[in-house]
Amino acid sequence: MTTLALTVLGRGLVDPTQPVLRADDEALLRGRAAFETTRVYAGKPFRLDDHLARLSVSAARMDLPEPDCLAFRDLVAEALEGIGDASLRLVWTPGPSDGEAPVGFAIFGAIPAGHEELRARGMKAISLPIGVPYELRAKAPWILGGVKSTSYAANMAATAEAKRRGADDAIFLAEGEIVLEGPTTNIWWRSGQTLFTPSLETGILAGITRDFVIEAAPALGYSIEQGVYERSELAAAEEAFTSSSVRELMPVIWLDGSALGDGRPGPTQAALQQALRRAAATGSARPES
Ligand code: PLP
Repeated sequence: MTTLALTVLGRGLVDPTQPVLRADDEALLRGRAAFETTRVYAGKPFRLDDHLARLSVSAARMDLPEPDCLAFRDLVAEALEGIGDASLRLVWTPGPSDGEAPVGFAIFGAIPAGHEELRARGMKAISLPIGVPYELRAKAPWILGGVKSTSYAANMAATAEAKRRGADDAIFLAEGEIVLEGPTTNIWWRSGQTLFTPSLETGILAGITRDFVIEAAPALGYSIEQGVYERSELAAAEEAFTSSSVRELMPVIWLDGSALGDGRPGPTQAALQQALRRAAATGSARPES
């Protein structure tokens, strides 16, 4: 990622080549920090308050100090001048374990190349079992299901495994082949005019883009069903796609070696992608009614 700007709580704009954390920071030593990623459209961060609210929830679930959301808002505003389209990552770490010195920072990066090409061709996915009952993922505080922590090495390893197997990304399955989410995405599929997605009771991340889809779909003629679904239901879909802040709505055209639907990007993903871009352009980031 090309870094465009960096702001640090209590320091303001900082040269991105300069160090921000101590070597004994908990984020580094144990992956014990919270983060958020959103997308900036023409200088407007998408649903920043929702991301800050989720940052606070993640921090609480990991027993980190509470982040100051107003200070984070100012931090983002400080760097926005001159930023057009970008990815925005917020990080909140408790600092070193021997003292109370939390550190918060915001990194603006260039949107990675290749997303539009992938959207046009559609993504290949493999399912990967994680061997945990979904009920446990949702409820066990030590598993941290649905928490955006900096311990994402396993998620990155899943994407790497997908690439090794000739796909673009992975979809995690809980015990019993229950569909969960991707390493950095929520998953959706369509049958007729109904869109299906795993419910939050499966311990998945409450995606902000997922919220957008839930709000925008009815106006486009789709109803939403959230539930506990097996892999076979996803495999039999007419169309599938993922949702996430930076990659937005991305078609999934292939699962575990077989075509999903007709093996091409579908109309629902395309309509939702357009709706997302329209909402992002208004600044309100709410779907048009
Ligand atoms: N699920 C996981 C595990 C994620 O890490 C992410 C985002 O990074 C998502 C889903 C999608 O969430 P959002 O739409 O808020 O980006």
